[in-house]
Amino acid sequence: MNANPHHGSAVTVRRAIDSLVPYSTGRDPETVRYDSGFTGDIVKLASNEGAEGPFPEARRAIEQSLEAAQRYPTAGARALSAALADYHGVGPEQVLVAAGGCAVLHHLVSALLEEHDEVAFCSPTFHLYRLEALRAGAGVATAPLAKDGAYDLAALESRITERTKLVYVCTPNNPTGGVVSRDALRRFLERVPSHVLPVIDEAYFEFVDSPEYPEPWRVQAPADRPVVIMRTFSKVYGLAGLRVGYALAPPAIVRACQKVQNPYEVNCLAQVAALASLRCPEELARRVKANQCARTRLFEGLKVLGLKPLPSQANFVCVEVGSAMKVARALEAHGIIVRPLDAMGDAHSIRITVGTEREVDAFLGALASVLELLRGDAREA
Ligand SMILES: *Cc1c(COP(=O)(O)O)cnc(C)c1O
Repeated sequence: MNANPHHGSAVTVRRAIDSLVPYSTGRDPETVRYDSGFTGDIVKLASNEGAEGPFPEARRAIEQSLEAAQRYPTAGARALSAALADYHGVGPEQVLVAAGGCAVLHHLVSALLEEHDEVAFCSPTFHLYRLEALRAGAGVATAPLAKDGAYDLAALESRITERTKLVYVCTPNNPTGGVVSRDALRRFLERVPSHVLPVIDEAYFEFVDSPEYPEPWRVQAPADRPVVIMRTFSKVYGLAGLRVGYALAPPAIVRACQKVQNPYEVNCLAQVAALASLRCPEELARRVKANQCARTRLFEGLKVLGLKPLPSQANFVCVEVGSAMKVARALEAHGIIVRPLDAMGDAHSIRITVGTEREVDAFLGALASVLELLRGDAREA
């Protein structure tokens, strides 16, 4: 037996995987500290995590459940599924709990996509839709976004073919923050052919204040129109590191996904933390409000700097800055991490997570110096 891990292997990697580049998660504080030489506190506004940590009630639930970590968690996250079903007024057989929305998207693809199938979405959007399809060896069709950064559902509909199996609607869209209106979504769902399953990614729905937004989720679809709604505890609930999200879906789709899921996928601490968070509507409302204030501050601050940010309904703002990579690297020298959108197909824009008001101010101060410096460089060149 050759157990040398450095030795080349004759085992081949699946052809669909071989040329893929792993999902790029943005720069982490340690790397940035090392590369930039910055020694102060790093402000990370790159991955749209909540501006605050777990809810106080979630922290308490985690502490109380530490001892239970000796045992395997309940398979299928039974208590959490039941609570989510109650919360949304659906049956527990319509709830899929998974290790984050990313896992929901992964299970849908594993359970549904064959190699000759296609998925459709607007671009730029959440990069995982593309990656998951390519992993499965399936095809990808994209349509442009509308000018305001929302999904253009008419353009998207035109990309649906006989081969399309999944069509994604990300609303608010990551990275632009635009939302589709209730009427546009209802019309779209009425027109999508029955061989296509719409997946509505609502990772940021809590942050929306537009009255045009299609809440509650059930009004979106004609009663007999199967859809999947994906949501997560990673954003407003501050649990990104624990990995827990869910989908509301037809029972047959939930069952199919459970067949490809790991039996103990969602750890016990994530389960109790999510459950406790769901029971705190006041804390949720407070955080949504705080995000709206900080988001306005960020948006207005960008305008003062002469930029044209896209109006956002989420906890991030997208803005064109010229060379996004250059600006992002220069911000790192000030200890600020944002996301240049190169990987999402836009080399000119950055996406800034809203963060706290203090973080917004730190970012705006740093950006002002960076833009001045770069304009100076351009004048000299
Ligand atoms: C953050 C995010 C998700 C889910 O993230 P998880 O941490 O895996 O729950 C899904 N879709 C979009 C668009 C996101 O931004």
